[in-house]
Amino acid sequence: MRHSKKTVSAADVMTTLGADYGPAEWQPRYDPAEELVYTILSQHTSDINSERAFLSLMRAFEGLDAIADAPAEAIEDAIKSGGLAKQKSARIKRVLEIVREQVGSFDLSFLAEMPMREAKAWLKALPGVGPKTAAIILCFSLGMPAMPVDTHIYRVSKRLGLIGPKVSADAAHDILEPMVAPEDVFAFHVYLIRHGRQVCKAQRPRCQECILAWGCPSNGKTSAKRAASKRAANRVDSR
Ligand code: SF4
Repeated sequence: MRHSKKTVSAADVMTTLGADYGPAEWQPRYDPAEELVYTILSQHTSDINSERAFLSLMRAFEGLDAIADAPAEAIEDAIKSGGLAKQKSARIKRVLEIVREQVGSFDLSFLAEMPMREAKAWLKALPGVGPKTAAIILCFSLGMPAMPVDTHIYRVSKRLGLIGPKVSADAAHDILEPMVAPEDVFAFHVYLIRHGRQVCKAQRPRCQECILAWGCPSNGKTSAKRAASKRAANRVDSR
């Protein structure tokens, strides 16, 4: 019986959250090179801001070639709504120049023909591309079973004990990815993000409403920890 188990496994996440959240269907988002630009724009900003900056950039230039050829200042101007425009414009230009130099175009579809480890290594050799960006491109654009670990997935999988408390976000990619079948990687990613946004929130996880609470080692503990540190802070304040 499921509830007699001690801790939630990745398979439990799939079946329990899958039953509640319904099927997660993969649909390609941007072209892989565009996704690369988008992920640079999404660093340290909200989805709304990065989306706005991306659309503004694509409106301002006629394709990726034109962006790679443009002065960094012109790119900076087009993406200023996304924050950190100076750094991001230089990074976008440099990355696009390197891709064009190495591939002869911006067609990254060849990555889908490579073993995933090699495809990841190719992407991670680009400046500013880490495990998360590489996984986003492979998963969202090319439908490969790469697991992007964002802040929600990192937090929830840590609370559930799927990864250890000291595992870094970068290392979490390689630990979580093999925990689920390749055909489930995208859905697992979607379910944990949704769970993190709606239930296992960063500040106040709703453990009492959580359908994984039966096997979560952090059940009720995050709020208790917060309350304890608040009490300690109050004691210090009242001295
Ligand atoms: S029981 Fe609480 S800490 Fe555990 S996954 Fe659910 S909401 Fe998060």
